Amino acid sequence: MQPNSELVRLENVFKSFHSNQSFFRGSRILIRAVDGVNLVINRGETLGLVGESGCGKTTLGRLILRLDQLDSGSVWFEGQDIAKLSSSEMKGVRRKMQVIFQDPYSSLNPRRTIKSAIMEPLTIHNIGSRSDRISRVAQLMEEVGLRPEFADRYPHEFSGGQRQRIGIARALALNPSLIIADEPVSALDVSIRAQVLNLMEDLQTKYNLTYLFVSHDLSVVEHISDRVAVMYLGKIVEIGPRNRIYASPLHPYTEALLSAAPIPDPQIKRHRIILEGDVPSPANPPSGCRFHTRCWLRIGICSELSPELKDMGAGHSAACHVRAPSM
Ligand code: ATP
Repeated sequence: MQPNSELVRLENVFKSFHSNQSFFRGSRILIRAVDGVNLVINRGETLGLVGESGCGKTTLGRLILRLDQLDSGSVWFEGQDIAKLSSSEMKGVRRKMQVIFQDPYSSLNPRRTIKSAIMEPLTIHNIGSRSDRISRVAQLMEEVGLRPEFADRYPHEFSGGQRQRIGIARALALNPSLIIADEPVSALDVSIRAQVLNLMEDLQTKYNLTYLFVSHDLSVVEHISDRVAVMYLGKIVEIGPRNRIYASPLHPYTEALLSAAPIPDPQIKRHRIILEGDVPSPANPPSGCRFHTRCWLRIGICSELSPELKDMGAGHSAACHVRAPSM
């Protein structure tokens, strides 16, 4: 489906956490989890969000859902600045934003049937009579490929793939427009992954859903995304149409990530870029370009000035003084 309009907009979003560790007694470390992010998610698209562990992907999703409060900046959803909404207004908005987790088992109460799990959002939002809700649960179960007659079973009676289908049914219950899927297939067997991804794609087409698809798995992101955003230490360093990102990445970090991803065809050999050093700590990020300490292209300015995301045409932007110079 072609994206038709803007659904989510993040403007200059910052979020830090105080770590429990401390340098000295009394002074806690400040972790800059999301460090000045500007981002648009269009209606009906899948935006893949990739980056190494700890770069801020989950926090970004939580800020959109207002599960964490911003330090500064703004998050707009359907044209509304969600930070300014009252809790009752936010309840209305929350119906339209849902989340699918990596491990649906941990979000399902083992002592409650899956009927009650899928029904819960309808109950919370007081939608329909009890019999309406029961028929909606049956409809949702069919929609995600589960047999409605299993509604009175418990989570442990289902396989990992089926539990993820339960998570998807629950996310769909309130007819959301946005689904934030945080590593939704990472815990599944490879053979089951494709089935769940195909289901998500079918549901997207049917209901014009918008996905923010958070993952560290580049092949899964390539399969499902229309556009891809790459994060490094709290910043988006590159964003663009999927084909452009995978065929001609601009940012050296994206290039290194892609060079390390396995290729299904053993005949194709790729030059693997080995990044030197560990990912710097988000508590003490490098000056200038966050990536300069590991970058083989770095020049003088890279350690001094943080590069802005620069549009290089066709909706493809990168934050790199060398590959996307601003002058
Ligand atoms: P992963 O792929 O491992 O889930 P991520 O890219 O999703 O990583 P986040 O979970 O967003 O990254 O974390 C970004 C940084 O913020 C990390 O250094 C993390 O330890 C820190 N962080 C996230 N949430 C909290 C919190 N509630 N309290 C303290 N630090 C936090």
